[in-house]
Amino acid sequence: MRQSGVRGMRLDRKILFREKISRLNEQRWSNFDFKRKMSIIRGGTGIPYENCEYPVEFNDTLKEKIRKRDNYICQNCGMDNSQHIVKFGCNLSIHHIDYNKFNNCLTNLITLCYSCNSKANFNKNYWTNYFMFKLNRSLIYAT
Ligand SMILES: [Zn+2]
Repeated sequence: MRQSGVRGMRLDRKILFREKISRLNEQRWSNFDFKRKMSIIRGGTGIPYENCEYPVEFNDTLKEKIRKRDNYICQNCGMDNSQHIVKFGCNLSIHHIDYNKFNNCLTNLITLCYSCNSKANFNKNYWTNYFMFKLNRSLIYAT
């Protein structure tokens, strides 16, 4: 009984600490650049907000599969994975051709470097058509 006050205080402090941390995280995650950076680090497309909502099937195994299919080369500029690691500190990104992160068909995914991936966030129609064309062509050649 005597200790309940002390325990209560400790608990309060713990809660305050947790609140402080979550507030800090909130601030970090509300930063556009931070989100984009985290997205790239995690092998995403660089579109902010995408991280927390990625479906489970878009995992490292799938990304690695796509990189392997694309010969570990950016399908736009030709940068390879080791160059990418040196320049951007992470593996080549996997891009969703139709911008729908829930469409994880192999034909909707393509390997891109960070800078091509960023470019693909603008003129979305153009890039969708371009990558679909490119991917179809390379799949035909591969068979
Ligand atoms: Zn590139």
